[in-house]
Amino acid sequence: MTVLADTHCHLDLYPDYADVIAEIDRLRIEVIAVTNTPSVFRHCVALTRSSPHIHPAVGLHPQLASQRQHELHLLPELLTETRFVGEVGLDFVTQDAMDRQIQQRVFSTILEQSASHGDKVLTIHSRRAAMEVVEMIGAGYPGTIILHWFSGSHRVLQAAIRFGYYISVNSAMLSNQTGRRLAAAIPHDRILSETDGPFVTVGGRVVRPAQVQDVVVGLATLWNVDLLEASARLGENFRRIVPCA
Ligand code: MN
Repeated sequence: MTVLADTHCHLDLYPDYADVIAEIDRLRIEVIAVTNTPSVFRHCVALTRSSPHIHPAVGLHPQLASQRQHELHLLPELLTETRFVGEVGLDFVTQDAMDRQIQQRVFSTILEQSASHGDKVLTIHSRRAAMEVVEMIGAGYPGTIILHWFSGSHRVLQAAIRFGYYISVNSAMLSNQTGRRLAAAIPHDRILSETDGPFVTVGGRVVRPAQVQDVVVGLATLWNVDLLEASARLGENFRRIVPCA
């Protein structure tokens, strides 16, 4: 049986998270539950403890790097409690040189500490900083790299693919021509599905993990294959990273 996976979802930020978790369990969706600061990681673990399908990730969102860098000292211990890291990365929407520098220092620390474990799965934000992110991670990183909601150039995408990274695609990305062109350029064995809920809306409504099915439908259309074939490809990619428990 093929698995449906949401590899980037902020489960702890849904006001009705208990309903969302019940839905995940009912539909047996595999979810990487990213968090935005180290201090909320254990809270997310506690919320999701009852579900065998949810994988909490420890993160420090780049847009919170300046404000929350003092929480970095929590990271070494939390990294022993999960295989999953996210949301981390760089966001260069800010023009502030100091903020960018702090983001780079925080991300570099997280990359180094995660690398020392060798088997981490990292879901990474790279808005307006795709080249910088790929340069910082480089080739041969000891762990699994997932570039989430990639919006960089085709040249940087090709480098990421050469370096062995995965790319996760969501509904927002598939809703425009630029995003669809990028998605079409990702090899079929390197693509994953995600929602980035609750930060993405479809038809004016906040997406939920169950709607990761829309991404499967979108990719089936893009690839010109049937739904079974598209979900089989995506499921196989996810199981290569996260084998059955
Ligand atoms: Mn996110």
